[in-house]
Amino acid sequence: SKSLAGVKGTETERTFIAVKPDGVHRGLVHKVIERFENRGYKLVGLKAVVPSRQLTEEHYADLKSKPFFKGLVDYMSNGEAPVIAMVWEGPDVIKQGRAMIGATNPLQSAPGTIRGEYCVSVGRNAIHGSDSFESAEKEISLWFGKAGELIDWKRSGSEWVISNN
Ligand code: GDP
Ligand code: MG
Repeated sequence: SKSLAGVKGTETERTFIAVKPDGVHRGLVHKVIERFENRGYKLVGLKAVVPSRQLTEEHYADLKSKPFFKGLVDYMSNGEAPVIAMVWEGPDVIKQGRAMIGATNPLQSAPGTIRGEYCVSVGRNAIHGSDSFESAEKEISLWFGKAGELIDWKRSGSEWVISNN
């Protein structure tokens, strides 16, 4: 079946981006959306969710052995604020999305990146983005795996954003 992350290396490539509960509390949702929209990327999925512990543990499965894992899962899933989950589509969106977000530790995030503009603590770094095509596939299917949750549509004026030559 067709990959939920689109076709790697084409304009159909997709990534999973989420504003985490601290980012939601701080009113950063619109700033994240604005940056991806302004860049020329296309929003194909969006929802507010309080993820279950099980979903959060699966999402962060590679970090299970870390000392901060329990705290991370608690703060993502305790419902003090939702996670704003999104899927963005466009050329090189996985790598470019990571670059726009900045380094995991905001004290190492370049000025101009989302974390570099808005964050100072690794445990409150506001936003998630898939780190590879394989992660994007896994994460999109975890958060947006039900039929009909992602919308195929054509952005008005996309020919002024993406050229085929
Ligand atoms: P990311 O892909 O840049 O988000 O970073 P990772 O995949 O390495 O880690 C996932 C998330 O776990 C990070 O975004 C942080 O929220 C959290 N995290 C990572 N390292 C630490 C740490 O050393 N301390 C704490 N408290 N949280 C961390
Ligand atoms: Mg990661």
